[in-house]
Amino acid sequence: MANLAFEHVNVIDGRGGLLRDATVLVDGTLITAVEPAAEARPPEPGTQLINSAGMWLMPGLINCHDHLCNKWLRTTPAGDYTTGRLNRLHQSPGAHALEAAANAAWELRQGVTTVRELGGPGISAGPELFTNVHIRDAIAAGLPGPRVLASRLMIAMTGGHGTPWYGVREADGPEEVRKAVREQIKGGADCIKVMSTGGLANYPHERPDVDEYTLEELEAAAGEAHRFDRLITTHAMSDSAVRCAINAGIDNIEHAFLATSEGVSAMADGGVSFVPTARVSLVMARHAPPELAKLLADAGHRDRILEAVDLGVPVGVGTDSRFTVLEEMETLVEYGVPVQTVLRGATGTAATICGLDDSGVIAAGKRADLLLLRSNPFEGLRTAFEGLDMVVKAGEILVASDHADAPLRPLRPPDPLV
Ligand SMILES: [Zn+2]
Repeated sequence: MANLAFEHVNVIDGRGGLLRDATVLVDGTLITAVEPAAEARPPEPGTQLINSAGMWLMPGLINCHDHLCNKWLRTTPAGDYTTGRLNRLHQSPGAHALEAAANAAWELRQGVTTVRELGGPGISAGPELFTNVHIRDAIAAGLPGPRVLASRLMIAMTGGHGTPWYGVREADGPEEVRKAVREQIKGGADCIKVMSTGGLANYPHERPDVDEYTLEELEAAAGEAHRFDRLITTHAMSDSAVRCAINAGIDNIEHAFLATSEGVSAMADGGVSFVPTARVSLVMARHAPPELAKLLADAGHRDRILEAVDLGVPVGVGTDSRFTVLEEMETLVEYGVPVQTVLRGATGTAATICGLDDSGVIAAGKRADLLLLRSNPFEGLRTAFEGLDMVVKAGEILVASDHADAPLRPLRPPDPLV
């Protein structure tokens, strides 16, 4: 692996800092220097000089909530979306693996260098099941894709969110929930995901305003995860579930589509982070069955996100199924979140949420996960990310345009739901 030098580049450091006309040096997998160009020592002989003058260098994107099996190559829904989801039960573990591999390569090409993968399809919990642990290990062994933090199976009550089409470990009562957490850790999970309420995609069979896990069950899950140094996150839609999860010691709230201002205040008071997956609630408020669409539209998710930002809650960028990191960032900006906060939500703040102290920022000693952009993302996210020139993951150039007239393009076809 060659040493790299980015010279006369503008550095967005992922922590809110901006250094214009800088030199960034990479040695192996790590960033070794970030200095004003005028003060920088000359690169060592053999260093690969990157043509980056006047361009923008930022940390690789971190997707805090991803489902690699439910994105671009997702199965076309047959009939209503519940039927479409149920059809996935008939896909083989091999099909899931290939889909995850293709989506991982696609996300890397968009500039995503780390994803927190919160669960994939599959009904069986047997040894033949494909899980995010497998795609994580395959990528670590050289398959193209972002680094994966894997939750392994989602943990839900019997018949809870994610069942029957997703890879769910059903567990009831504190003792069984504790065992379910232990099973995921035994199976190689980096983090734990539990379901606190119903969701949207199987409505009205399950409802986002109906709570699932109890305080005692969530306390058992959080305690066991923390005992083994794993962060734990929860899918929680209702206000009561958000507050229950915070009281139970859960580290992060996903969604909170139906939360109130009190729920958001509880996040701030509890030191809990928030991954709103804003695009999902926005699109579902337009495309879900009328009763569910109204529930979402009336809930004021946009206002909750703005309140969370105002209160200093760490707000992370996570796509959930279907969407891209760029789309989620654009939605947050449209909602009124400052673009600097949004970019931190996909870099420095995202690293904190995911428990990573080695990435999300450009500083000496950090992993060289870097994006080179032709324009300033603060002045236009889409223009900047469509002008992505290079993706470096752990010091290795994995995606690069060949010349200035050939910007990288998203490979994905237009989404019929957007
Ligand atoms: Zn999800």
